[in-house]
Amino acid sequence: MSFESLGLIPELLKAIADQGYTEPTPIQAKAIPVVLQGHDVMGGAQTGTGKTAGFTLPLLQRLSAYANTGTSPAKHPIRAVILVPTRELAAQVAESVQTYGKHLPLRSTVVYGGISIDPQIAELRRGVEILVATPGRLLDHVQQKSVNFSQVEILVLDEADRMLDMGFLPDITRLLGMLPAKRQSLLFSATFSDDIKKLADRLLKDPILIEAEKHNTAAETVTQVVYPVDMARKRELLAHLVKSNDLKQVLVFCRTKQGAGKLALQLERDGITATAIHGDKSQQQRTEALKAFKDGEVRVLVATDVAARGIDIDQLPHVVNFELPHVPEDYVHRIGRTGRGGSEGDAISLVCEEELKLLAAIEHMLKRTIPTQTIPGFEINSAIAIPPPRRSAESRERGDRPERGERGERSERGRRSEPNLRHKQPPPGSFDFSQPYQPATALPSPLEAAYPSRAKSDAKKPKKPLAALFLPPAPEKPAEEQ
Ligand code: AMP
Repeated sequence: MSFESLGLIPELLKAIADQGYTEPTPIQAKAIPVVLQGHDVMGGAQTGTGKTAGFTLPLLQRLSAYANTGTSPAKHPIRAVILVPTRELAAQVAESVQTYGKHLPLRSTVVYGGISIDPQIAELRRGVEILVATPGRLLDHVQQKSVNFSQVEILVLDEADRMLDMGFLPDITRLLGMLPAKRQSLLFSATFSDDIKKLADRLLKDPILIEAEKHNTAAETVTQVVYPVDMARKRELLAHLVKSNDLKQVLVFCRTKQGAGKLALQLERDGITATAIHGDKSQQQRTEALKAFKDGEVRVLVATDVAARGIDIDQLPHVVNFELPHVPEDYVHRIGRTGRGGSEGDAISLVCEEELKLLAAIEHMLKRTIPTQTIPGFEINSAIAIPPPRRSAESRERGDRPERGERGERSERGRRSEPNLRHKQPPPGSFDFSQPYQPATALPSPLEAAYPSRAKSDAKKPKKPLAALFLPPAPEKPAEEQ
């Protein structure tokens, strides 16, 4: 199928050709004609499917009738509002609007928090047809009276699930009340909870449902693998994987801001260029970190879920879950940073015993098991069972593995000149999570083999008194707030 056959105008076809896209992705092929016809859309699409162009191209075409080169602000009222959850995604969607709209005289801008509002006000007062915004900052502009929604015809909610996760529902509800009732509304979400469905009911009129891929599943081009490892040795294993496979662009996910910052520093000490991006960093620091990573100046970008939202790097090859997310859907979002636009990607999860329940929840959601591979020298409890040979204080400080263990035990893959972390089939002797998680039984399961102390301790543990089962669960680490 070609973009021409979707009925796009020459100005857009030219911009698409400039990008080098030869054919629409499945979500584009489905969404473009439907949006062009003016329907509301509920789109099930994770990042990496090309959904941004899927809504931006037809949106530009529908507004092309208003394209004009007049200088008066009155000639450029806001016609479309695109709401997104984070600054990074806002910047990237705005860039897409500019890219695809470059041959049309339509104005667009982006507003998000964390930077001065004054230049944004000045830009808005000059007039723009397309406004990309995070909900909180858009409400600030409402207060400043720098926006007028009376001419808005199209509303897009991008990554709606994430907006709800981040607590934007009250802001979105307020904004919806300010928009003209007669409009076209498009809602995109990678996952579908009841809350999303409720929001869609309120927002959309007779929507056409479009699904890029089955929701709550990962892109098929992403190869997933779990490496069982003791929590205390995760950093060491990560450094080992990066170095021995000569990985160049690795996006690493941590659960907390503090954890992300600390890990980036530790990796630097290990001799791996790394930087962190999280909610405590200023917008400028985040932009710089992202640029350094995109330009290949740093090998590892450590990010929290919130900060990584919207990061779009063409052909990002590797994503590492240093810690599994508490919310299974976040796993899909995380690994969606790789394998984008049909390119291949690796998603590696470093999983300690304490995270087995999170892993089980993720596998349950994916309706599949993720292959497991044990890296020799990093088996669970190996640091306790086999004390490592004595190392110099310097090498301990760097976190280096002892020479002998690393050389002697390195897998075939580690010796290849080309980095390759694909594990379509787990190699012999490693563990395939071919069965869902089961508590210990007489025969050790693959899972138990990978996590032996769990198997042992479960088998030996006396049954808890019933009352203990009703104790409140231990508090979880707080998820990052932005
Ligand atoms: P998105 O899912 O919108 O974040 O897009 C993911 C990536 O796919 C981006 O890097 C786009 O530049 C790229 N992309 C979008 N549409 C196409 C297409 N038709 N062909 C090839 N790549 C595309």
